Order: sequence, then structure tokens, then C-alpha cells
Amino acid sequence: MSVELHLLYSQLPAIDRLLREPDVAPLVAEYGPVLLTDTLRQMQVEAREYISQFHSLADWCSDWPMALKQRLHNRQSALKPVFNLSGTVLHTNLGRAPLAESAIAAVNDAMRGAVTLEYSLSGAGRGHRDRAIADLLCELTGAEDACIVNNNAAAVFLMLTVMAAEKQVVVSRGELVEIGGAFRIPDVMRQAGCELVEVGTTNRTHLKDYRQAINEHTGLLMKVHTSNYSIEGFTASVAEAQLAILGNEFSIPTATDLGSGSLVDMTRYGLPAEPMPQQLIAAGIDLVTFSGDKLLGGPQAGIILGKKRWIEQLQQHPLKRVLRADKMTLAALDATLRLYQQPDRLTELLPTMRLLTRPTQVIAESAQRVLVALTPRYGTDFTLAAEPCWSQIGSGSLPVDRLASWAVTFAPKEGGGSALEALTARWRGLAKPVIGRVADGRLWLDLRCLEDEAALLRELAR
Ligand SMILES: *Cc1c(COP(=O)(O)O)cnc(C)c1O
Repeated sequence: MSVELHLLYSQLPAIDRLLREPDVAPLVAEYGPVLLTDTLRQMQVEAREYISQFHSLADWCSDWPMALKQRLHNRQSALKPVFNLSGTVLHTNLGRAPLAESAIAAVNDAMRGAVTLEYSLSGAGRGHRDRAIADLLCELTGAEDACIVNNNAAAVFLMLTVMAAEKQVVVSRGELVEIGGAFRIPDVMRQAGCELVEVGTTNRTHLKDYRQAINEHTGLLMKVHTSNYSIEGFTASVAEAQLAILGNEFSIPTATDLGSGSLVDMTRYGLPAEPMPQQLIAAGIDLVTFSGDKLLGGPQAGIILGKKRWIEQLQQHPLKRVLRADKMTLAALDATLRLYQQPDRLTELLPTMRLLTRPTQVIAESAQRVLVALTPRYGTDFTLAAEPCWSQIGSGSLPVDRLASWAVTFAPKEGGGSALEALTARWRGLAKPVIGRVADGRLWLDLRCLEDEAALLRELAR
């Protein structure tokens, strides 16, 4: 090693000396000695790498205590709260449904101490953990029984395993959905040990296609809600009621993976129609699966509704033990479902419904105020405007069903894409990051999901 390099390395301070410095010692109390030492070690490694690469000291090496403080401060928790101004209400990457206050309170109580998770206060013996919520779901949907697991993918997997392992499952070619995140119906079938039998064509499938596919190996007739895309034009698909009749004729069970699925008629609130689990139960489908954190507006969960004899088999299968939901999920789900007992108050009490039904006029007025408030701060470098735009429901609702909304847009006066990139990067680095959407050479902040305008202005005015 050259003398010059050796000199640079020797300027790096020793960790135990740093820990005793007056600016660093108070940090030990705040962050603990382990994290502090680990962070300093990591900084040492980086400083050495910098020297070996550039033959000079990194800028931050001039003030180690300051650099350390900054690092500790910027340490991000894994789940950092952000402003979702992406225009997608149920954004999978941003955690989907925000929970209702009553659900948050219920989770709090469940976290804090003992709860009757698998304990009956009537002394009637140990029930299974889904019992009370299953009763509530039956009341709301007319189903005979219900089973709850960690997410809808798990629900589909459990259902296929119990109903049709080592058997054939008949599905329309038009419904071989990929949900994203490696959830593809054909792959899940294979994992569950089922043999997929595709019938019909991409755009048209008829009842006779299912009928012709039935043989002694058939274990299940299945429908999958084509939630995140739509096939339009010359199309045909088989209604659940018809499929249920066909299943009954051959004593073969039927199931639908609904994905989203709403317990209330969305059109009642002026929203695009979405299939309801209770309609499919009424149509005679044996089992229906859907998510807890999509349109239902609750925690991540998979809900399976349907015939008692099938639900009992699901509950008793070893896989149910693997996939069962925890007490926090069940507490949140229970409180969320209770809101559906007062459908008139859903748009007030259930955040998902409140955001989806937010009047366009209210969003437009908010956009005007945000525009006025942010123009002094950003107007030099960007042209700001309040613009009408379209929000999406998200999470496997039809992308063509969009909701009229308003955005504040930022068009760079100079620098084009790189100026936009710099702005989005800066906003990602805020104490509470602001997540917008880039389109047409502008950054769009769709204000549909902005309920706390003052908090956004505090963050962006800095
Ligand atoms: C979203 C979706 C799933 C997966 O549900 P998760 O709750 O994300 O596991 C499965 N099937 C369909 C049709 C979906 O829309």
C-alpha cells in the first residue's frame, strides 16, 4: 500500500473513540450501543471502500458525529406512512385498504392482552377461531358457513387442495388469470395437485364446453373473476347459476374465486357494479373466495364462504392450520364486517368506501386550495395546474371502471424528465413521502385519497 493511501486510512477514527465524543455519547442513550456500533462499523466499511476506489476521503468523513446522526435519523421503518396520491385507491404496493377507526381500535385491544380467540365464554367448549366471524359472515351473506385464512391466494389454494387434489378442475380459457406477484391460476392449481382442464376459448365459453369436459376424474367446476382486465366485444361466459345446476346434475362441486367482491351493491353508491359473494351463494355455488383488504375495506385476509359440508372439510384440513389468520387480523375483520350491518353509514365509517365515493366537487375544491398553497414554493421551476383526472379503484377491480377525480399537476419549466425524476425522488425522501404518478411529462397528485390536506401542505411547503 502506498504511503499516501496509508495516511488516508489512518485518518479514519476508531469506533470506541467516536463513542466517547460529546456529540455521540447522547446518541447512545437514544439508539442503544448495539445499533450505534453497528452503524459506525458500516460507515467505516464504506469510508474504506471510498478510499480504495477514489484515493481520497469521502466528504462526510469531515464530520463523523453529524454523518452518524443523519444516518440514524434517516433509518426508515419497513412500513413508513406515505401520502397515496397515485390515483389508485386500493394500491397493493401501498398496503391496500386503510382500516376503519373501529377496526384499528379492535386490533389495539387484541394486541394488548388476552382475547377469546379460541375460547367460548358460554362454557360450550373450545370453538375454532373463525367461529364468531363466520356467524357474522353468514348473517351478512346468507352462506351456510365460512373459513378465514391469511389472504385470498391462500383461500384459493386451500379450497383447491381440499376440493380437487389429484382431480381435474375445469376452468374457462378466458379466466386463467394472473393477479400479479406470481399468482397465476394455472400455477396455483399445479401446486394444489390439481390438473387444469381449460375449456372454451379466450373470448367465448359456453355451458356445453364445461359439460363436455366432465368425466370420472373431474373434481371441480371453477370460475375466476376476471378482475384486473376485461374481455370486450364478441364474448360469452357462463353464469354461476347455470354452472351450479350443471355441477348438481353430475354431483361435482362448483367454486368461484371472486378476488375483490363487495358485500354491498356498489351501484347503490354510484360506483361501478362488482359481483357480490352473496349473489353467487344464492346462485348455488358451493364455495366463493375473496379478499379482506380489497373492496371489503378490511385487513389482509382470505374469506371462503359456502356450503357447510365443504367448509367443515377446510377447517379440519392440516393446511388450514398453516394458513390460519392471527388475532389481529380477525379482530380487524370482525370490526370491519360489523360496519356492514349499517350499510347507510358505510361511506362515512369505512375509509375504502368513503374514498371511493368522495364527491368530485370536493376533490376539485381541494385541488384548487393545494394549487394556490404550493404555487409560491414550486412555481419558479414548475408550471402548476389543477386538472380533472381519473382515479382507479385498484386491486383487481376493472381498470376500465374509473372514477372522476382532480389532481394538481407539476410540469417542469426546464429539464424535462430529469427535473420530474428529481422532484419525485425528493418527495420520496420526505418525512412522510408523497407518492404521485408521472404521465404526459407531468407529475400528477390525484387528491382523491387526501383527507388531511393540511398535513400534505406542511410536508410539501418545506
Ligand atoms: C386479488 C386476487 C387474488 C389474490 O388475492 P390476495 O388477497 O391478494 O391474496 C386471487 N384471485 C383474484 C381473482 C384476485 O383478484
